[in-house]
Amino acid sequence: MYDPNSDPRNLPNTAFTARGGSPLDSLPLATDLEADLVVVGGGVTGCSAALHAAEGGARVVLLEANAIGWGATGRNAGHVAPASKLSLEEAVTRYGPVHGRRFNDACEAGPDLVFGLIERHGIEAELKRGGVIVAAHSQAAVEELRHRVEVMRAEGKPAHWFDREEAARRTGSPLYRGATWAKRGGAINPLAYARGMARAATARGARVFEHSRAEGIVRQGRAWRVSTASGSVTAPKVIIATNAHTDGLWSGLRRSIVPARSYHFVTEPLPDELARTVLPGAAVMTDRRRLLIGLRLTADNRIHFNGYGPINGPDTGSDIARTVARLEEIFPQLRPVKLDMSAAWSGWMAMSAAGTWKLHRLADGVTAALGCNGRGVAMGSFFGRDLALHALGTPEADLTIPFERLLKIPFYPLAALIARFELARRDRLDKAEMEALRRDNAARTGPGA
Ligand SMILES: Cc1cc2nc3c(=O)[nH]c(=O)nc-3n(C[C@H](O)[C@H](O)[C@H](O)COP(=O)(O)OP(=O)(O)OC[C@H]3O[C@@H](n4cnc5c(N)ncnc54)[C@H](O)[C@@H]3O)c2cc1C
Repeated sequence: MYDPNSDPRNLPNTAFTARGGSPLDSLPLATDLEADLVVVGGGVTGCSAALHAAEGGARVVLLEANAIGWGATGRNAGHVAPASKLSLEEAVTRYGPVHGRRFNDACEAGPDLVFGLIERHGIEAELKRGGVIVAAHSQAAVEELRHRVEVMRAEGKPAHWFDREEAARRTGSPLYRGATWAKRGGAINPLAYARGMARAATARGARVFEHSRAEGIVRQGRAWRVSTASGSVTAPKVIIATNAHTDGLWSGLRRSIVPARSYHFVTEPLPDELARTVLPGAAVMTDRRRLLIGLRLTADNRIHFNGYGPINGPDTGSDIARTVARLEEIFPQLRPVKLDMSAAWSGWMAMSAAGTWKLHRLADGVTAALGCNGRGVAMGSFFGRDLALHALGTPEADLTIPFERLLKIPFYPLAALIARFELARRDRLDKAEMEALRRDNAARTGPGA
């Protein structure tokens, strides 16, 4: 299977690099250090862990193989979703009655954590509130989303359902059968956010080393010695926060997830008048198609959105014609859509068998959080904090989700192939539902409309 760590060492040009703040430009580790905690991985999860542990008074060392934000964190769409991918019933089945509810509550509160960190540490991360819209393309999606709204309302939580007309007004798209709006969510510049957290951590005494891949972890008395090519850190606690970029550092960890590539694009800047018609009622939107669609309007009037492409292997480019057709179908007023190909990029998500995050205690003092499944700006911040608090003494019972056994995915060498088949199956289902939607919309608006 292609190793995501084989991607080029430089962060690609994305919708966020221009306003992502300056890189940390930290030197590689070149000595032997002692610390209370070593964090491996400088994405949102590792930076949150380092920041929270440093705030709690720990001596922290963060090791990043490339640069802060080089992984999914510096390439994601910056949607800060206030909702779990799992329904409450699914979360309870997955994590048990106490932790399942806690997990979904944490997902709903995720944006408060992210926005709170940005505000508390004065991070310039283009924070945009305004909520997240999830649009329904099929009747099944209508029923599922309405059910979620009802469950949330019954618990006294804020949740909104928009009928077809209101959904069209709020999204600027005539396509959908309805939509939910989760007011607590929003959007950020994820690269600026991670760099800001790393800087806030260093201001509290954490030491950040870039271009410092952790190559080995060995027991040394009651502590762990984490070694890089040119140095080492010895500490009683280690947090591994490497998600889709998990390498062979800890035996079996890489085999517990399947990395999947996701492609992103921005359009050329839109004239103000046209930009005002796109998503006037929220900061970001997605719909319930199985193959992710995510959309937002950037500060400079571009639409940033997901594209189609091969989920494994080197980045050989995506299916641009299909990607553009999808955007034009959502917003026909933008035809013909013009992409800015100087900012077209891809990144890696860690898919897990259960379709959601996992926490592991790999050994006494060594923990890991991974399996973002495409949702990690808020949850990575959350689980980074959870693991930091655990390293500082918070008992497992008080964490959002419990630690689970490390399970290797069976037939791993075939996992990429199986994932491709699964993707093709989902694509077929999406296509059939979109056909039904088109027929339904044509019948409503009349022939030729
Ligand atoms: C294209 C794309 C779009 C997405 N959009 C969204 C979105 O809009 N909203 C959302 O919530 N989520 C989104 N996600 C998911 C989100 O980006 C991730 O869940 C999140 O960034 C994961 O952060 P992380 O810190 O756990 O991992 P990463 O950001 O991937 O960081 C892992 C880091 O570990 C480092 N590393 C690996 N091995 C070692 C080692 N041995 N030693 C030292 N360092 C090592 C890597 O270099 C890497 O920098 C998206 C993901 C992608 C790929």
